[in-house]
Amino acid sequence: MIEFIMATNNQGKVKELDRILNPLGVTVVTAKSKNISLDDVEENGATYAENAKIKAMAAFQKSGLPCIADDSGLSVDCLNGEPGVFSARYAGENATDEQRIAKLLKNMQNIPKAERSAHFVCSICCVIDEKNIIQVEGTCSGTIADSPKGNGGFGYDPVFLIDDGRTFGELSPQEKDKISHRGNALRMLSNELKRFFDNQEV
Ligand code: IMP
Repeated sequence: MIEFIMATNNQGKVKELDRILNPLGVTVVTAKSKNISLDDVEENGATYAENAKIKAMAAFQKSGLPCIADDSGLSVDCLNGEPGVFSARYAGENATDEQRIAKLLKNMQNIPKAERSAHFVCSICCVIDEKNIIQVEGTCSGTIADSPKGNGGFGYDPVFLIDDGRTFGELSPQEKDKISHRGNALRMLSNELKRFFDNQEV
């Protein structure tokens, strides 16, 4: 088993990644479990991909071990891509998901259904060593509802409508994984890593 450090303290993200990469002989652990602090790392990139790379490189430089980081968010077309890389901080540092959703819906008041298109993005950067860096990005398109529906998921899930008229908040975790930006990015990463390991064996 190769151990990868994930540059996050979010145990949920680590578990999800560990489950998907385990069949490849990769196990994923938190930075904290290796006594690596990432508190001083500033996520000041202009894109999701830049932020993922900043975090993964910082963890790699501190540990010298293979590291993975992700950055994700929601981009709404009629708001010129907002909240984008500021999705987590959209309503201030300590705001709740409800407050972020309320701000989003307020900023989209009177916008007709046809102009409420949006997409989630999940960018993942995996630094295996100085020379081998893998970056993938998954997306998922939908529209923003007029009001929240469903108690599942997290973040903006209750207002993100998919084609069948349900929100992400109304899907089971398995249903969400199949189509979500994160699910798509993780499947791409798994394929890229498999290719990398296969080439190493030659
Ligand atoms: P980060 O990737 O941990 O920096 O978080 C990005 C922010 O984007 C989260 O706090 C959520 O507000 C939002 N976000 C990212 N992915 C999702 C998702 O799958 N559902 C709902 N909100 C999401």
